[in-house]
Order: sequence, then C-alpha cells, then structure tokens
Amino acid sequence: MPAYTLPDLPYAPEALEPHYSGEIVALHHGKHHAAYVKGANDTLELLAAAREAGDFSAINMLTRSFAFHLSGHVLHSMFWTNMSPDGGGRPDGELAAAIDEFFGGFEAMQAQLTAATVNVQGIGWGALAWEPVAQRLVVEQIHDHQGNVGAGTVPLLVIDSWEHAYYLQYKNVKADFVKAFWNITNWVDVARRFEAARTVPPAL
Ligand code: MN
Repeated sequence: MPAYTLPDLPYAPEALEPHYSGEIVALHHGKHHAAYVKGANDTLELLAAAREAGDFSAINMLTRSFAFHLSGHVLHSMFWTNMSPDGGGRPDGELAAAIDEFFGGFEAMQAQLTAATVNVQGIGWGALAWEPVAQRLVVEQIHDHQGNVGAGTVPLLVIDSWEHAYYLQYKNVKADFVKAFWNITNWVDVARRFEAARTVPPAL
C-alpha cells in the first residue's frame, strides 16, 4: 500500500463547465496530480534505499523532490474540493467575519488573492491561509508547490497558477481563469477548513 494515493474527483470532470473545462480537469487530475502522487511515493522509496545503502549523496535532490511532490499532491487534493458546481458567491458566518477583520472586506481579500495568483513568476499558487501564531488569515504566493510560505501556515483556499491549470481554455490570459475560479469557489469547503485550522495551537 503506497503512502499516497490519488483521491477521486468530488464531481464529474465536466461539472465545473463553463468556468473550468472538463478536458483540463480530467488531464489535470488524471495526469498532473497523479504524477505528484507517484513522485512522492517513488521519492520515499529512494530515501529508504539511500538509508539502506548508507549513501546520502543525493540527499539534497531527494529532499527537494519529496517536498515538491508531496506538496503538489496536497495542494491539488485541496484544489479539487475548493471548487464546486454549486460554488461561487461569498462566504458567510465566522469566515466572512474573519475576512472582514483581516482584509477589510471580501473584495479586498479577493483582489489580494487574485493579484498573488495572477502575478506568480514562473510556477506557483495563490493561497488564502490561516496563520496560527498571530491567529489571522493571510494571503500567500506559493512558489512551485512548496516555497515562499510561512512555516506553520495552513492553506484553506488554493488557486493553481501553473500553465497546465488554465492554458487549454484561457490561453495566456491567466486573469480570466482566476476570475472564473471565483464563480466555482466552494466556500462551504473553505469554511470547514477554516474551522479545523483554528483548533491547531500556535506554532511557537
Ligand atoms: Mn496543477
């Protein structure tokens, strides 16, 4: 039994159309996400072999590979549940109140997260995250899958900024993809993650 397995999509690939094409979702899940799952499992085996051989000459590459593939698996698993055919609109309740408190309003958070996502240089993600030290919501711009994040932050809502995430449908206009994403954002899922994240004690 491998350590990591590809989760099923929570909906049919074409369920998010017209905002997100079924062709992209099927490829993105079945090929890209699956490759990160395989990469994480393969890297664990290579690390075990390195320990067995007492040969850590590739430790830097293997450590980076594990972080890259594991984080790719985690972020994509979140990404699928962060979207829903019944999504869009705005959060309510405590999540809405927290967004108001820490960003000064929903539109301000949305603008910041959109900017963080659209302006990724190279490959990365935008994320709304819970920062447990100051107990506040923050927007992060993730490099690759694993870089440029504050230690201990808990992602709640993630938007894939890699070209494979949007190019077949939106070509070079990444901003239109992010605009469409807001029509399928699953705020119920984000609120559930927000509730769970706040039970984690501060990281210090
Ligand atoms: Mn992706």
